[in-house]
Amino acid sequence: MTMSHPTIRKEAPASPPNLADYDAARASFDWAEVERELAWLPGGGLNIAYEAIDRHMRDGHGAAAAMLWEGKNGETESYSYDDLRRLTNRFANLLANLGVGKGDRVFTFMERVPEHYAAIFGALKAGCIAGPLFSAFGPDPVRDRLEDSGASVLVTQPDLRERVAGVIANLPELKHVVVLNKNGRFPGPLAPGDLDFAALMEAAPEDDPPIATTRDDFSIMHYTSGTTGKPKGAVHRHNSVIQQHLTGKWALDLRPGDVYWCTADPGWVTGTSYGMIAPWTNRVTQVVYEGGFSARRWYETIQRYRVEVWYTAPTAVRMLMKQGLDLPRSFDLSSLRHVASVGEPLNPEAVVWGQQAFGMPIHDNWWQTETGAIMIANYPCADIKPGSMGKPLPGIKAAIVDNDGERLPPGRSGNLAARPGWPSMFQTYWRQEERYESRFVNGWYFSGDEAEQDEDGYFWFIGRTDDVINTAGHLVGPFEVESALIEHPAVAEAGVIGKPDPVAMEVVKAFVSLKEGYEATDDLRRELMGFARGKLAAAVAPREIEIIAGLPKTRSGKIMRRLLKARELGLPEGDTSTLEED
Ligand code: ATP
Ligand code: MG
Repeated sequence: MTMSHPTIRKEAPASPPNLADYDAARASFDWAEVERELAWLPGGGLNIAYEAIDRHMRDGHGAAAAMLWEGKNGETESYSYDDLRRLTNRFANLLANLGVGKGDRVFTFMERVPEHYAAIFGALKAGCIAGPLFSAFGPDPVRDRLEDSGASVLVTQPDLRERVAGVIANLPELKHVVVLNKNGRFPGPLAPGDLDFAALMEAAPEDDPPIATTRDDFSIMHYTSGTTGKPKGAVHRHNSVIQQHLTGKWALDLRPGDVYWCTADPGWVTGTSYGMIAPWTNRVTQVVYEGGFSARRWYETIQRYRVEVWYTAPTAVRMLMKQGLDLPRSFDLSSLRHVASVGEPLNPEAVVWGQQAFGMPIHDNWWQTETGAIMIANYPCADIKPGSMGKPLPGIKAAIVDNDGERLPPGRSGNLAARPGWPSMFQTYWRQEERYESRFVNGWYFSGDEAEQDEDGYFWFIGRTDDVINTAGHLVGPFEVESALIEHPAVAEAGVIGKPDPVAMEVVKAFVSLKEGYEATDDLRRELMGFARGKLAAAVAPREIEIIAGLPKTRSGKIMRRLLKARELGLPEGDTSTLEED
């Protein structure tokens, strides 16, 4: 844990959420207060879709804008909360008409179009378990996930359906394929046996369907990102909405009426917890942009919609950094009030870059598919130590523990763990109960990440437990080495592994990709070695640096260090179903 940048001081905002003294807030925190902000169903049930959408009718906000959609061809559509209520009612009724009900798995394989959101929330209203799949998946990952989950419904679109036609034919549990031809984008009829989304919606009543879920009923299942191995199906409950709502407010600073943009796809947990649920329970106007990454388009989107709160990921930030500061400075980004990031460690360099590009630091926060919602965050009102993930949310008991689940003192690295019982905790890995059980030791949930806590209570990410390097008795976290390397002006991205060594057990090896305009020469490589030695302790600095064209990443943009290692050692690559293709 090295602090390469000074602490960024924050002032407590005048209006809530004012968590400036959140150590005190943590001491007196009671989830019951958050529970009282929700509507609940008659009889005490809880339903995510009802809390995110229908609750706002009750409070007279049905006409408020819920979604501003921009399609990849430039089409625009906007939806009020009442529009969403009616669409999700129809989809829930449509499922009932098909005989699909409580506990059935309804999967979506679609791009970021409004109907995708309607299908997920409609399925939740119907008591089904919703399972969004990332639209860039090829046939194998789609088959694995549909087969493993035993999905009975797949909602998709013509081009994606075509891509996976071969696997759909061989899924005995899959009963209905519902196909949306958004705005008539695709010519030609549907495949035989497929159901037409628009026609079924038209035929389904708009009336409120019966909603009969409890807080303990399953809601959404997400397969993990596959960064460390074969993706696991983490299953969540409707109860998770409690924590999603609160973290939306406290960690992302969402206030009713805000314009908010989350760049994550619904296929990953950030795209549902913070691209659907938290923003809508907090009654914000969400921008949904169907297109992919482009620095210019992204800045344009912030400018056009006057985005106030923006939630994105480290890889995206590094891609923006690669293009320099002139570009963001040529747009009016003054609407931004809060910028946050999740999914990977956020290099200190990226935190402070936010100040130059947006006039505010980027707020890192930590959580995972399994936790369902933000656990540790840099709050809008709290001082930031660049490179730290921040502090646990009030109501969350996080700690650093040894392998036996005993707490370690500040400054000692160990397993990042949390006391079970937080509202959005996953309930199982689908059909892998033993694997689920194995994540709990001595009353702690083990995240699989290695971290440490400092004297002030801030948490610092070190690496995935599997990625931590043991070199001559020193434990080295890849993140520290990567962060040092990307401070060099030539380096765009870095991935660090431990390479077996007969003397030191492992040596640190770094792979780097370069920014445009730099060439991979031996001189540059030597310069980078010297640069890293100047920043890092001798035992930690890389012994080898290799310059490569790009780092292998998951489709959600995470660096796959296990693949760098497998390739280095000539070992099998393992599950690569979420590997991004060039
Ligand atoms: P798999 O479990 O399949 O290997 P994954 O762990 O990448 O994939 P996710 O649940 O999407 O799947 O990612 C959660 C993980 O991402 C965390 O456990 C952590 O390793 C990393 N992560 C997320 N946010 C942060 C952060 N702010 N700082 C450091 N690491 C983070
Ligand atoms: Mg994981």
